Amino acid sequence: MSAHKKIVLLGAGHAHLHVIRHWQRAQAPNAELIVVSPRESQIYSGMLPGLMGGTYKPSQCELPVARVIKNSPATWIQSTARHIDMAKQVVVLENGRHLSFDTLSIDIGSTMDPDELDKRMPGAGEHAMRIRPIDDFAQQWPATLASLRAHPHSIAVVGAGAAGVETVLAVAKALAASKTQAGLTLIAGARGLMHTYSPRAKRLAAMWLKRAGVQVIEQRCVGLSADTLSLHGGLRLQCDLAILTTGGHAPKLLAQSGLSLNDHGYIRVNEYGQSHSHPNVFAAGDVSANTPYPHPRSGVYAVRAGPPLLVNLIASANSTALTAYKPPTRTLNLLNLGNGRALATWGRWAACSRVFWWWKNAIDKGFIAKQLTTMPQKTAGKVGGKQAA
Ligand SMILES: Cc1cc2nc3c(=O)[nH]c(=O)nc-3n(C[C@H](O)[C@H](O)[C@H](O)COP(=O)(O)OP(=O)(O)OC[C@H]3O[C@@H](n4cnc5c(N)ncnc54)[C@H](O)[C@@H]3O)c2cc1C
Repeated sequence: MSAHKKIVLLGAGHAHLHVIRHWQRAQAPNAELIVVSPRESQIYSGMLPGLMGGTYKPSQCELPVARVIKNSPATWIQSTARHIDMAKQVVVLENGRHLSFDTLSIDIGSTMDPDELDKRMPGAGEHAMRIRPIDDFAQQWPATLASLRAHPHSIAVVGAGAAGVETVLAVAKALAASKTQAGLTLIAGARGLMHTYSPRAKRLAAMWLKRAGVQVIEQRCVGLSADTLSLHGGLRLQCDLAILTTGGHAPKLLAQSGLSLNDHGYIRVNEYGQSHSHPNVFAAGDVSANTPYPHPRSGVYAVRAGPPLLVNLIASANSTALTAYKPPTRTLNLLNLGNGRALATWGRWAACSRVFWWWKNAIDKGFIAKQLTTMPQKTAGKVGGKQAA
């Protein structure tokens, strides 16, 4: 029989939620599962544009992290990791506590670091709203929207990937609902609108942005002040509110961890989801860089990483062989257009329809509901699903 193993899950990201929910059935009798995550619940990013646009209430978009953990054999430490020290094999929590582990799994997503943003866009840290952390943004949004409705403004969304397109269209929907006239601009950078998507997807997005009254500028934002946005070409725009959707940064705590990282600071993992430098560390979701099978950072990939991670954490607990996992080369993306339609993309194929919105709505609501409805029951005698101090 294998020795007692302490498995620490850092973050309650999409892949870890799967592991927690299914741990009850895991054949790993000598393993103790500990989850470190700061929030009782967290807003599901896929539904954030719907929340901004008024389609959903916050309670409909919350992933019930605490309840998922409570109904599992895992122990919850409600905290944030400040440092990972691989030399000492500990995670240092915000209260200074050192948490040791036999196996560490990291699923803490990406961040938007104000210092990094300021390097590329001086003033961004002070004068713009950041879409991440998503829970902070969601909390600030109602007051921001109320202020926009009281005093019509010039609003710019900076960053025109899928999240930027959904965000600006959500703002348009929220303002249209109150018949508020405001200038809406999407700053798409030199690479342009949705640069990783097919020409057809771009054309469709451009068409719906135009119909929603959004001006798209294909230049880079190089600075922000309280009321101005500066572009690379020298143009300055009136901008009373800037929302940054420019993509994430690797969490800073990884930099000094001793883990092997890629050039952008994300954890390099192999086909087993295992760190290149430390075989007892796994990483999944946005925080990982899958070197054999590189793929975009998205919730879909983070969710798909859950089942293979579960299998390999069980194998790690039992000291048995790991199983390789190849993520899909493409995924279905459904973008909320804020008008009762969604843009569906699959590789080079793209189309818009009300049916796709219905589908996206059903998938997203189903994802939230699944967190509670499919949880296995607790079994007596296992490590308690309690909250640790
Ligand atoms: C507006 C918007 C819309 C999006 N829509 C979609 C979509 O429709 N479909 C899609 O596929 N993707 C979408 N994305 C991308 C998606 O949000 C991410 O790819 C996805 O959330 C990544 O999941 P994850 O598990 O890696 O991390 P996350 O979901 O970010 O979870 C990270 C977890 O780690 C915790 N954590 C963070 N730091 C620490 C720490 N130091 N210590 C302990 N815990 C920590 C957090 O509290 C959280 O529980 C969208 C993004 C945005 C901004």
